Amino acid sequence: MTNRRQFIMTIVPAAAVLSGVTCAHAQAAKVDEKVPAAVGLLYKHDGTKVDAKKYPQYKAGNICGNCQFYQGKEAWGVCPLLGGKQVAAKGWCTAWAKKA
Ligand code: SF4
Repeated sequence: MTNRRQFIMTIVPAAAVLSGVTCAHAQAAKVDEKVPAAVGLLYKHDGTKVDAKKYPQYKAGNICGNCQFYQGKEAWGVCPLLGGKQVAAKGWCTAWAKKA
């Protein structure tokens, strides 16, 4: 009986912790550069690879990580303009706007 109780007292909190971990990892998917919304905004995972001559809207240093729409503090964060999917902090698109 004690073993069964100990088992339950161990497994229930562990399951609660694991379910929290699962939720943390169940974040939005990373956006695909090839989906129409991303193509339309010329989104790139790496802003430094944008051809500034072809796309003069791009300015060095303007990245998702310092865009007002970027939601996150990690290497990937959510962008509401791309369907709530994750974009790279070093990414860029034509809708970039300086974070206030
Ligand atoms: Fe990145 Fe901002 Fe464009 Fe979203 S709107 S993809 S955060 S530059």
